[in-house]
Amino acid sequence: MTGSGGRPLVLVVEDDLRYVRQLRADLGVGDFRTVFAGTGARGLDEAMADAPAVVLLDLGLPDVGALCVLERLRKVCEAPVVAMTLAEDDEGIARALEAGADDYLAKPFDLDQLLGRLRAVLWRAPAGAWPPFESDGLSIDFATAEVRVAGRPVGLSASEFRLLRFLARNRDRVFRPAQLVEEVWGPEYAGDQHLARVYVRRVREKIERNPADPRHLVTRPGVGYVLRKHG
Ligand code: CA
Repeated sequence: MTGSGGRPLVLVVEDDLRYVRQLRADLGVGDFRTVFAGTGARGLDEAMADAPAVVLLDLGLPDVGALCVLERLRKVCEAPVVAMTLAEDDEGIARALEAGADDYLAKPFDLDQLLGRLRAVLWRAPAGAWPPFESDGLSIDFATAEVRVAGRPVGLSASEFRLLRFLARNRDRVFRPAQLVEEVWGPEYAGDQHLARVYVRRVREKIERNPADPRHLVTRPGVGYVLRKHG
């Protein structure tokens, strides 16, 4: 992963202009940088030119077989690959996963499905795929799980760190308590909304100068919580 701004680069290999347009809009919402390639050959060139954090690969490309592209991608870059295919193409999905795709996305997909899939593979990717989060004295190193406030290390429990990491990777997006619990603790905890409130309070006590008037982990009344990125 290279480039400025700390935003992960997504390489999209897709020839269908409808999906190119949708992905351009959706990935902008998700705060990803993007590069598009309309053929497998272009995709491989782009993968070598600027190491992407993740590759979205259409399984129906006009020039070369997508599985061939997938094999070659595996040799030229370490990025996880998400295969895009039609929902009914079970065989295509199975072959892509066998050939080394990390995940798949069935078309048509919506914004939440796309961003969810990307976050899942980036989460599993080598930690270096996410640059540290830095905002007004708060710094989070995803590779070492180290959190600092004004340069001083802060000790967080595993759950506190997972919550903070999720919000930092989705900075400036507001999450309802139920959504946060599901994302951080898993769907089986989805009913326990109080977990979000309890852990938000604990994290605030550790990262905020004034937990009663938070500057980083902010409440949007009636909606939920957001980690703001300053500067
Ligand atoms: Ca296609």
